[in-house]
Amino acid sequence: MRIASLGSGSRGNGTLVKFEDSLVLIDCGFSLKETERRLDRHGVSAQQLDAIVVTHEHSDHCSGVGRLSRRYQIPVYMSHGTYVSERCSDVHEYRMVCSEKPFMVGELELTPVAVPHDAREPCQFVIAAGGLRFGLLTDLGSVSALVRQYFSGLHGLLLEANHDTELLQAGSYPPSLKRRVAGDWGHLNNHQAGHFLGTIDHEHLQHVVIAHISEKNNHPSAVLAALEPHFGRSEELLWANQEEGFDWISLH
Ligand SMILES: [Zn+2]
Ligand SMILES: [Zn+2]
Repeated sequence: MRIASLGSGSRGNGTLVKFEDSLVLIDCGFSLKETERRLDRHGVSAQQLDAIVVTHEHSDHCSGVGRLSRRYQIPVYMSHGTYVSERCSDVHEYRMVCSEKPFMVGELELTPVAVPHDAREPCQFVIAAGGLRFGLLTDLGSVSALVRQYFSGLHGLLLEANHDTELLQAGSYPPSLKRRVAGDWGHLNNHQAGHFLGTIDHEHLQHVVIAHISEKNNHPSAVLAALEPHFGRSEELLWANQEEGFDWISLH
């Protein structure tokens, strides 16, 4: 299984997951031109996409979904809540997904997992193929028992470390936005991400990608300070950034 990112952060997200000839794009928060450019950088054309999967209706995840889907006639999987938000309902073909109900796209088995986040019906995903499991986990304000249950025993994990609590509080966001981001339905802070990492099974974990990092309220040194103590010996740490995402990684 191979994974790459078109970009990660509050200005646009997109993650490619590929196994043999099956390829999905999870979220698309970029314009059509920008998406094509970013796909091209990873050696992929939009015609190759078997599906677009949407985690939730916030614009950094869905603003480019409709146009990409219609232009290339790609089916779009999302929860009913995401669909009825009408933020990305104008798609080529809508296919409804439900938390904890796995579905197949080619060789890839995707399991939506409901997460605490301030959207209608947000889901993050565990993707399995060829005996390997990859988890995509961003945009959640707190770690629930359900998340803990599904995001364990993974071979690869893309994990949100959104903000440093002190930098957020000292920063320029208005008080209401600070409360939203820091709240249980907002985004994971470095400490929460570190704690989560410290409590999951690392036995098979090969790659941990730090993602959805706030450009204003975080710093790589703060991320490392909070997460490094919780790394196992064998897994590789990677960063997903806003401009570049990250290049293909392989799980085996
Ligand atoms: Zn987001
Ligand atoms: Zn969000």
